[in-house]
Amino acid sequence: MTYSELMSAGIRMLTEAGFEEARTDVRTLVCHACGTELTELLLNAGLNVPHKQERRFFSMLERRLKHEPVQYITGEQEFCGIKFHVRPGVLIPRPETELLAEAVFRSASGKRVLDLCTGSGCIAVTVAKLGSPSLVAAADCSEAALKIAKENAALQDAEISFFCGDLFEPVEGTYDIIVSNPPYIKSGIIRELMTEVRDFEPELALDGKADGLYFYRRICAEAKEYLNPGGRLMFEIGYDQGTEVSELLITEGYTGVEVKQDYAGLDRMVFAVWPVQNKESKDV
Ligand code: GLN
Repeated sequence: MTYSELMSAGIRMLTEAGFEEARTDVRTLVCHACGTELTELLLNAGLNVPHKQERRFFSMLERRLKHEPVQYITGEQEFCGIKFHVRPGVLIPRPETELLAEAVFRSASGKRVLDLCTGSGCIAVTVAKLGSPSLVAAADCSEAALKIAKENAALQDAEISFFCGDLFEPVEGTYDIIVSNPPYIKSGIIRELMTEVRDFEPELALDGKADGLYFYRRICAEAKEYLNPGGRLMFEIGYDQGTEVSELLITEGYTGVEVKQDYAGLDRMVFAVWPVQNKESKDV
């Protein structure tokens, strides 16, 4: 079987099973199974595929046919141009989240940055590599996730302090920027997500409890002790949570609350400032 025949066979199987991105998926899987770049693969399309590579491709294709995300099959996802290791213990970094990482690294120069609910570490590592922060710390409640985040930091030679525990509980120090992409899907909606997400990605990373706002509520209240005066809180949010998260921030005494959109024009981020002169310091 030639590489070209292998790709056609794979595309046919995925298309017949109703996969919309059959061609892209197959190209990625063939490249991975054969350890080759796409350009090389296309140049060599007429050559015969060694049996070992063919077997490896079809076993990967079988996993994809069961709707396992391509990124868990290949074990990697690019984020802001950086290659990240991903496994089922962490959410696969999303393109929308690149916008949040970008907003953070652009304003991180000389700052102390904390990434809460870091997962794969994609935000923390990107900020450490592309911003010029004075320090980056990252926290997560999942040891499995932190193991992957540490791997990603090591791969990129990014210096990050890691904390394992429930939100701020293990965190030490104060910060100029606290960034978080916490779980924000309403528990009741998780069942309706696409199979790839629902059956393969960690529920722990998705479930924002009954109204999806559990983590925002806690982070808004608890971050005050960890933010330097004038420090910023920078959140990713669900497309329909802009108003609610803004209200939470205002109620907690934050100022300069701004909702920002993703490339699809949907509300995707909320930024706020912990004021130098805040309500609580005026009271004492
Ligand atoms: N954006 C993710 C999704 O749609 C959810 C990420 C999160 O809960 N933080 O699946």
